[in-house]
Amino acid sequence: MTQSLDRLTAANISSTTEANPWADAEFIQRHIGPRSLDLDKMLEVLGVASLAELIDRTVPATIKMQQPLAIETVKSEHTVLNQLKQIAAKNLIFRSYIGMGYANCITPTVIQRNILENPGWYTQYTPYQPEISQGRLEALLNFQTVIMDLTGMAIANASLLDEGTAAAEAMSMSYGLQKTKFNTFWISEAAHPQTIDVIKTRAIPLGIEIVVGDHKNIDFSQQIFGMLLQYPATDGAVYDYQEVIEQAHQAGAIVTVAADLLSLTLLKPPGEFGADIVVGNTQRFGVPLGYGGPHAAYFATKDAYKRQIPGRLVGVSKDKRGKTALRLALQTREQHIRRDKATSNICTAQVLLAIMAGMYAVYHGPEGLKSIAMRIHDLTTTLATGLTKLGYSIGDAPYFDTLQVETPDRANAILERAKSQQINLRSIDLHHVGISLDETTTPADVMDLWRIFAGDKVLDFTFSEIDSNNVPSTIQASTLARNSEYLTHPVFNIYHSETELLRYITRLQSKDLSLAQAMIPLGSCTMKLNSTSEMVPVTWAEFGQIHPFAPVEQAKGYQVLFDDLERWLAEITGFDAISLQPNAGSQGEYAGLLVIREYHQQRGDIDRNVCLIPQSAHGTNPASAVMAGMQVVPIACDNDGNIDIEDLRAKATKYADKLAALMVTYPSTHGVFEEGIVEICSIVHEHGGQVYMDGANLNAQVGLCRPGDFGADVCHLNLHKTFCIPHGGGGPGMGPIGVMAHLTPYLPTHKVIPMGGTQGIGAVSAAPWSSASILPISWVYIALMGGAGLKLATEVAILSANYIAKRLENHYSVLYKGTNGFVAHECILDLREFKKTADIEVDDIAKRLIDYGFHPPTVSWPVAGTVMVEPTESESLAELDRFCDAMIAIREEIREIEIGNVDKQNNALKNAPHTIVDLVDANWDRPYSREQAVYPVAGLQDYKFWPAVGRIDQAYGDRNLVCSCLPMDAYSQE
Ligand SMILES: *Cc1c(COP(=O)(O)O)cnc(C)c1O
Repeated sequence: MTQSLDRLTAANISSTTEANPWADAEFIQRHIGPRSLDLDKMLEVLGVASLAELIDRTVPATIKMQQPLAIETVKSEHTVLNQLKQIAAKNLIFRSYIGMGYANCITPTVIQRNILENPGWYTQYTPYQPEISQGRLEALLNFQTVIMDLTGMAIANASLLDEGTAAAEAMSMSYGLQKTKFNTFWISEAAHPQTIDVIKTRAIPLGIEIVVGDHKNIDFSQQIFGMLLQYPATDGAVYDYQEVIEQAHQAGAIVTVAADLLSLTLLKPPGEFGADIVVGNTQRFGVPLGYGGPHAAYFATKDAYKRQIPGRLVGVSKDKRGKTALRLALQTREQHIRRDKATSNICTAQVLLAIMAGMYAVYHGPEGLKSIAMRIHDLTTTLATGLTKLGYSIGDAPYFDTLQVETPDRANAILERAKSQQINLRSIDLHHVGISLDETTTPADVMDLWRIFAGDKVLDFTFSEIDSNNVPSTIQASTLARNSEYLTHPVFNIYHSETELLRYITRLQSKDLSLAQAMIPLGSCTMKLNSTSEMVPVTWAEFGQIHPFAPVEQAKGYQVLFDDLERWLAEITGFDAISLQPNAGSQGEYAGLLVIREYHQQRGDIDRNVCLIPQSAHGTNPASAVMAGMQVVPIACDNDGNIDIEDLRAKATKYADKLAALMVTYPSTHGVFEEGIVEICSIVHEHGGQVYMDGANLNAQVGLCRPGDFGADVCHLNLHKTFCIPHGGGGPGMGPIGVMAHLTPYLPTHKVIPMGGTQGIGAVSAAPWSSASILPISWVYIALMGGAGLKLATEVAILSANYIAKRLENHYSVLYKGTNGFVAHECILDLREFKKTADIEVDDIAKRLIDYGFHPPTVSWPVAGTVMVEPTESESLAELDRFCDAMIAIREEIREIEIGNVDKQNNALKNAPHTIVDLVDANWDRPYSREQAVYPVAGLQDYKFWPAVGRIDQAYGDRNLVCSCLPMDAYSQE
């Protein structure tokens, strides 16, 4: 074994001048799938002598890096984790009462270990193949039900990125929905400051006016199309908004309420006082603070607006046999179809965290949630009573868990005293301090808070003295107490023993195919290894238990991590600066285009708003361009799938005065290193535009070429693709951007924590470093691979894709190849001919692959009727061969239809995937055997992943849209 591991011959190292990255770096051998001898076999199949030769014939010489990446390799996982532990120790965990939409909470350990730390959950992909995703779809349906019940709204999506962006999405949706032609969005000054910041950033390029004011005094003559209220307000006050909402509706405005989910167990839900949209964060439902994220935001609205909801929506449908089955609803609204008309650019959201939050509700149930909320509220009442006794005033509005304490001239002294006891309070101004309590607060904590406010005075009362006074709840005394029921569905009431919950979680997990079972060869998604060592630090308290607005000097460990990552990513991409703020690729696109826009504006080029986008682009590109206030002009592609350079030149010339940017993916979304990329970039520059590179395909570039060297000005990186953050079933992700020096001044800033460019755009995420707590994953990966390992990974990713293309080329046609006949890190198989020859569609082949134990590749994107296969460097040769064998066997099944041996409608492909229920059907009347159906190749008898349901009827579910948990009897009717 070791022999084959270490033996990397001079022939198959990429460059003889470099150190052998394989020989002594343990982790590189773990991360890369094929063994050294396998690489030789694969090269032989391709007819090339070495990896170096393959790369020379694949990557255009004009863009190839001449020097190695200057990143050292740390050899062992053990050493890297020790180093990271020392960095983490620089983070100081103070007790936080800062609030502002983030609360300490307790992650039930059964959820932490069995979901958050479980590769069976976190390595799943977005549930586009519902037959093998029923577990997470059910978990997400639970999440949607929690949101609908607690907010009192008719429909909720399956998560958004954070509360700030969810509020900004609400603004955009309101803008699109308004019947008036108004242009002002009104925001309550009592909204969280970061929410106001994110909305303002979003409003500027769309030409929307923002007015921030007091909800008790709104001037509706300002032509307001929409407004945002915070409930409870950022200072803790709970206001009765009924009247103002009625006025708003009369004036034609759509009203969004940003609400704290836990408070809604006690407070009248916004749906009961007229809200049109409700948004918020679900972090305090068991998801660690993580210095800002990731957490799942929620978005709920009225039934009338269900077709305008941004993000993904899980809905109920049925399978071939009429069995209840879940899938993403209204998928035709996705960006790929709507492009620049899409409702939003959201692609990756926060699925894993939404699942945790939904499971937190399953774990506690309605009673449990209510008692957590009551306990927090009671402690807050006791705290308030004591503070009043100490002579402080806290205003007379009802409150839930947050108090704004008047501290005439003493705010700083109090904050300092708190800090000396490792306590963070919210600094409001010289005369006010904020305190938010949470699930972790104890009576002893309340005593500590009193002592801080008492100063030199001795406390002359105890907790129990105050507590036993039974001061009435300010909520109960108001008109805002909740009377309606919630979470009455059995799922929230029957899993309250740990045994039952563990089995429920495990049952759901077992319905879903993840990387723990098989390769997920999704083109453009880079489903590579998410190693355990990369994942372990994510749940360290030093990363998890820090509030995003804690003073930066308490987060020195994070700063080291950010500095390292920024330096490494700059080295990898050839850029001068990196912003870690965008929390998904789509957000990177939006942020990068805003930076470009700002650059033009600051130079007086205020008319530059045309964005050229090739027809092959990912759907998020045009959607992001529209959000950045740009006009999308499509560029044609030639027959080889490359950008049509003459069309580009013509459009660049035509729009020379208005050209803002070109968005280009490299290697192209067709999986090819376009030779013309340098020319493409210079055409854009010559006409005054900037080049935005979509870096989703960076896994084909790392160590071989750098966007910053060959003409890109900005690029986003999907850390959840190239840099090992797992997909989490559709999030979390991170989409940092790299920029050249001339754009550095415009990088995103943040209202609460100073950061970013000197003339930077506003915040694009609610937290300054958005999903900070998953950055250790990419940090560990880069540290362990080093420059040499990263380069080898890229080379093997390209080798593996070419190996698949080669093995399949006599069976399927590979749609696009580069000049020398090689693909990049993925390849497109053209399946369109089978529609004519056998009436077989791409979906039939995709679903049949499930019978062979695989997650299908990317279906019908970027070309309809094709699949795009991306194996990544992490898949072993055995797994690559198993996939190729399955594809070849399916080709033979198609051939049987083509030659008339098998019926065109009743065959193993049309009926795929096959379930156990199909198998045990006593009336099996198929023209093929049961064995052919479920064990088409021998290896499957050893281990087989069974789909939980048969082929799902998409249209049925969209016609009968149901997006919450069904009553139990609906399940028993099956
Ligand atoms: C994945 C992807 C995106 C979107 O990234 P998200 O992180 O999902 O928002 C954009 N462009 C391309 C080519 C992609 O593959």
